[in-house]
Amino acid sequence: MSSESTFGDYGGQYVPEALMPAIEELTDAYERYVLDNEDGFVDEFRERLADFGGRPTPLQYAEQLSERYDTDVYLKREDLVHGGAHKLNNALGQVLLAKYMGKERIIAETGAGQHGTATAMACAHLGMPCEIYMGETDIARQRPNVFRMRINGAEVNPVTTGRGTLKEAISETMRDWATTVETTHYVIGSVVGPAPFPAMVRDFQAVISEEAREQAQEKIGSLPDSVLACAGGGSNTMGAFANFVDDEGVDLYAVEAGGSSLSVDEEKGVAPNSASLSTGDEGVLHGARTKLLQDSHGQIMESHSVSAGLDYAGVGPELAHLVDEKRVQAVNVDDDAALDAFHRLSQEEGIIPALESSHALGFLHEHHDELGDSVVVNVSGRGDKDLETVIEETSKRDLDSAPDLSVFREVGGGL
Ligand SMILES: *Cc1c(COP(=O)(O)O)cnc(C)c1O
Repeated sequence: MSSESTFGDYGGQYVPEALMPAIEELTDAYERYVLDNEDGFVDEFRERLADFGGRPTPLQYAEQLSERYDTDVYLKREDLVHGGAHKLNNALGQVLLAKYMGKERIIAETGAGQHGTATAMACAHLGMPCEIYMGETDIARQRPNVFRMRINGAEVNPVTTGRGTLKEAISETMRDWATTVETTHYVIGSVVGPAPFPAMVRDFQAVISEEAREQAQEKIGSLPDSVLACAGGGSNTMGAFANFVDDEGVDLYAVEAGGSSLSVDEEKGVAPNSASLSTGDEGVLHGARTKLLQDSHGQIMESHSVSAGLDYAGVGPELAHLVDEKRVQAVNVDDDAALDAFHRLSQEEGIIPALESSHALGFLHEHHDELGDSVVVNVSGRGDKDLETVIEETSKRDLDSAPDLSVFREVGGGL
């Protein structure tokens, strides 16, 4: 592990002057506690990941999928982490780090509410006051997560600027941080933002591939031929890849949200996808140079995905670099294929995956004959949070894999 601040052409610290002291203090703390295990930080982090977080998560052999695809499919079960997704790995790491730094208050942004929920849980666990910034639009469409945050004792601050979504929530959290750096730590939710966040969040999530690598050697007797993970900002992705990057025989696939189409409407400033690695251009967003969905004037475009957690116009700088270097292949799967994969895993394996994770499973379905004899798919989270969306989106489509959902209409479920 190292504290890189740039990754090839990407990364850096494109922040206002007022934030530099906070960034420097955080870099120092990251190096001392996370990289050098000062005061036993790493030991305490590991212990809490186990006792509170439920780690290690299994690497499960998927019998039906393996038979269907004629290749050995292993699922890394991050859906079994406390809270239902990989997000706690990072939130717990950062809130604990803030405690070691002597901070008294935690702030975080959230889009769909998953990161806000994980941060609120970590704060309740560690006894830290917590404020979450969330766009007004997102608050309206993600009410259960707003309740979960409040129930765990966090304040939820509505952000009313712009479209009232994730981008504005991040800007507002950075604004808070600039004036409160002495007492406050900002827990960013993915491998994005200014250095040291991308490297630090990767290191907190790297436990996924640390476990998976060891488990694969035990179960397969060798390393897997391929590892698949969905990519929004790219934190479950970097976590699933980090310990395999130096293993040349292991192919790494970052599966982005292809949305409804890969083409963009420049005039409206809308991309009907979130495939920034596959279709984006270089630019600066939220403190880092990376690949972005932007128009010819450099304005950030509105992105789209059926899965809220992948719906982001940027991506982590290290992942962008690994794709440029051809170490990671950037691929994508559209909304239909992700929904299809959601139903397949639910019916054939008894696991309801998050819509985000369903993108990685959709890629497995479409390309299983190119992935070698053994494949690890990172199931980044569970899909309970997505049931409402899945029922609505499935009833608009004609999917082979979907169950008959007419019962929902018959009982007047509002569809
Ligand atoms: C938030 C989320 C993602 C996307 O975030 P990354 O930083 O790209 O990992 C993926 N899966 C689940 C379950 C999520 O909650």
